[in-house]
Amino acid sequence: MMIPQTTPLRPETALCSNLDRRDGHLRFAGQDTIELAKTYGTPLYLMDEDRVRYNCRLYREAFSTCFPEGSQVLYASKAAAFQQMCRIVGDEGLGLDVVSSGEIHTAKTAGFPMARVYYHGNNKTDEDIAYAMDAGVGCFVADGTEELLALESEAARRGVRQKVLLRITPGIDPHTYAAVSTGQVDSKFGVSIETGQAEPFVRLALDQPHLNVAGFHCHVGSQVFWEDVFERSVMVMMAFIRTVFDHCGYLPEELDLGGGYGVRYVENDPEIDIPRKIADLAEMLYAIAKRLDLPVPKILMEPGRSIVADAGMTLYTVGSVKEITGYKRYVSVDGGMSDNPRYALYGSQYTCFNAGRMDEPADMRCDLVGRCCESGDVIQPDVPFPAATRRGDVIAVCTTGAYNFSMASGYNRMLRPPVVMLRGGGSYVAVARETLDDIVRLDR
Ligand SMILES: *Cc1c(COP(=O)(O)O)cnc(C)c1O
Repeated sequence: MMIPQTTPLRPETALCSNLDRRDGHLRFAGQDTIELAKTYGTPLYLMDEDRVRYNCRLYREAFSTCFPEGSQVLYASKAAAFQQMCRIVGDEGLGLDVVSSGEIHTAKTAGFPMARVYYHGNNKTDEDIAYAMDAGVGCFVADGTEELLALESEAARRGVRQKVLLRITPGIDPHTYAAVSTGQVDSKFGVSIETGQAEPFVRLALDQPHLNVAGFHCHVGSQVFWEDVFERSVMVMMAFIRTVFDHCGYLPEELDLGGGYGVRYVENDPEIDIPRKIADLAEMLYAIAKRLDLPVPKILMEPGRSIVADAGMTLYTVGSVKEITGYKRYVSVDGGMSDNPRYALYGSQYTCFNAGRMDEPADMRCDLVGRCCESGDVIQPDVPFPAATRRGDVIAVCTTGAYNFSMASGYNRMLRPPVVMLRGGGSYVAVARETLDDIVRLDR
């Protein structure tokens, strides 16, 4: 396995092994971030390709040793969707989770093997369904009865038998931030077991002549640490499988457990040993299957964040350091909520560095803010930076590989940053920087 060999940054900031420093400069994937900022300009998304591949292999290798043959890891492309990312995860043997025609088009034009694509979402339009079938999407994850019937009619029209999974809501509240929780009974996603609606949903699906029901899907939430949510999901879903089998004689081939493990944004976040977790989960799955006298289904998991988050970093340039005497300091940079809305949306934490002053003590507290016309345009509050921080300095925000590029907006007609991939000591552009002409391209 190829993992960047670096020395730790310093004990209190050993966030990820692809970070270190040399001559006062922060290095990422073994490369000088100040040089990268000079070469490509800022704001800049960096993506450590070796780390993405390493993360893919962690899951893939654990899956092939722990779960039945045919079990699959799907990369949740919403975490960071662009063509080169599809090529990399495809190359690593992963499948792909998509939620829109746009993500399908990205995968298809990247040459991704479409049979390994699973299509999610709580509202697929008729056009989406037709487009996805044209594109050869392998499996639809049906979110409810109306969609099921729409899928049946489109498959019938084409004379095909479409593979589907049924999205079931397991009734687990992951107690994380509400916006990233989807598995509790009251959710816009899926059909609930607790309300008694899931079983009729399964029966309806089994009655459709043009649908091949491969199994069930559930997804509890993202960035969950409080306990092993996957173990809870396995318990609930295996019990459901037993009930469905008793009542309808149907046994699913596949059980999709949804999104992946949490990642560390700051030192205080726990470190998750993914292979260990998967091994524990498998042990439990086999025990439950035995107890319930059920065969072990193929297991699917859909990590997004844990594949790309720690492979990403954003670089900015400081424009001003403003001190409000007696209150606080603001360090303003040349990006903001338009390239990273996660603090504004969820209060997400990040680890930030002044990339060119790594040898100076970080003894000044300040709010790191963007340049959008919005007081809520904060990238991270109360960040420690060296006192000498000033206009022209390069700021690094770590662990921005997930849900930054993909959540970027055109607010204030800010230009979206490019994505530069770092690989084996070199770098290349995977997504070009948006230009002023791009901004008005669709204006009439
Ligand atoms: C968001 C999501 C994922 C990915 O979650 P991560 O936390 O990024 O691993 C996977 N599956 C579904 C259905 C999702 O909604």
